[in-house]
Amino acid sequence: MANTDTPSGNTTPKIIRFQDENYRLSTEWLGKQAGTKVLGKGNWHSPTLKFISYQQGSLTLLNTCKNQSYKLALQVQENQLLVNCECGHTGSAICEHAYGCLWTIIWRLGERYFEKLKPDGAIALAFAHKNYFDKKETTAGLDVSLRPELKSVFQLAPKVDPIDLPAILKLPSAPAQEETIISEEALGYLLIISFRNKLLPALLPCMGKLNKNRTDIKIFNQFLSGVQKQYSHLLTDTQKELNTACYHLWKVVEKTPGNIIQAKPIKKLDDILAVIFDSWRKILPLLQRQPFVYSYYLYGVGQLKKRPAKSQIGKIVVSELSPSLRFVLADKGAVYQLQMLITGNGKLISGFETGITLFILHQQTIYMLASLRDAAIAEWIHRSGGWITVFKEHFSGFERKILIPLKESYPVEFVSSKKRKNDLL
Ligand SMILES: [Zn+2]
Repeated sequence: MANTDTPSGNTTPKIIRFQDENYRLSTEWLGKQAGTKVLGKGNWHSPTLKFISYQQGSLTLLNTCKNQSYKLALQVQENQLLVNCECGHTGSAICEHAYGCLWTIIWRLGERYFEKLKPDGAIALAFAHKNYFDKKETTAGLDVSLRPELKSVFQLAPKVDPIDLPAILKLPSAPAQEETIISEEALGYLLIISFRNKLLPALLPCMGKLNKNRTDIKIFNQFLSGVQKQYSHLLTDTQKELNTACYHLWKVVEKTPGNIIQAKPIKKLDDILAVIFDSWRKILPLLQRQPFVYSYYLYGVGQLKKRPAKSQIGKIVVSELSPSLRFVLADKGAVYQLQMLITGNGKLISGFETGITLFILHQQTIYMLASLRDAAIAEWIHRSGGWITVFKEHFSGFERKILIPLKESYPVEFVSSKKRKNDLL
């Protein structure tokens, strides 16, 4: 039965300090702040606590022991617990009722229960957002818990220990660019494009001096300088692997004609071409991680004994995309025109260059063709001058020899252009 005679709400709340910033309150810590009188606690031992209300951050319980009851309000303000018992007790320390009540809460609901009473704590939120919490009224008052389907709940119930998110976000967000060892010198890779396609493309390593910002190789050393032992301390493991692959590729390339479709009957070259194609396929992912990749127009093998000439070098980017080929047969009035289109990731790459066998070049980006067949087809179109024109008088032969076989392997779209009747190109 509540002691209604006693004034309530008029007394100044008593303050209980928490043990630490985490609102922890142990029975020992509570005892230190209680007056010596109440420590015997015989008078108000193990009270039953009944939830009455929660309003404006204040939890009111009915605190009952041996047929006597007092309302007791608990509120967390800043880093303190305010305790207000309606008994009207005036001393500086808390009364026995408050002591017995808090002792019961700590014993039954834990030393960390009071954190839930923070202004933005679990109890405040449980009353604001009923669907997300389970409330449980017991003889220890009121407890609330988050619904398990919420999983980790920010601030209230994180499932992962505090993490250093800024540090996490600074981790590499993409496969790392191969780091070059910090030095004045760096290893560059030169994609060898042989003049008049005497050789198929090869790749050669070459050390060089970096510019001030280390964004580019300013002066190259002699060709192949990157594979000598004196440089090994400057190389990453990937570069060592890449150098070996370059060496093996070069051994094959230097003995092989520089084109796919002309030199010899294609069948005789099949095996060697496949080796070269596969070598390039293996080289590509390693090369993509290299910061210094260049094209190099080689006029003769003799040039490999010197430094690469600056005028023959251009910086390039190696794309990971495999372009795909398709064709358009355009009606130009008197003639048809067969054109090759190239798409990368579904997007048309316009203005590409086909001069480098096995690859296409678009601006400064180089794409490796997806198959030896694609490479041969691209070479054919390149050697044809970019497209193939067919007079309508010759169409039936063209259809039989070229169009029908081509259509079996590549999409060919027919485009009529009545508007451009007299436009031969
Ligand atoms: Zn009291």
